Amino acid sequence: MDSRWPTVAGQLAGRSQQADLCSVQATAAMAVGQILRALSPGEKPPPAWNTTIEIDTFEGTVEHRPWPPNPACGCGAQPRRS
Ligand SMILES: [Zn+2]
Repeated sequence: MDSRWPTVAGQLAGRSQQADLCSVQATAAMAVGQILRALSPGEKPPPAWNTTIEIDTFEGTVEHRPWPPNPACGCGAQPRRS
């Protein structure tokens, strides 16, 4: 992979973010926390269920973008129950 691909991809999407060590570690920590919660017996689906989370430690923001399952899709994905 071209080492400059993340920069090009950000430009194509009309946005660029800092891909620094803090953001990478924060993203990894969030993912592990959500996975551990998903694997815990008796727990509800984690808050990241059907959601994209964007963590930007440089700007100090966390954005959630829900992606509810399409009812017309036959894949069997279940909506998040709160
Ligand atoms: Zn589906």
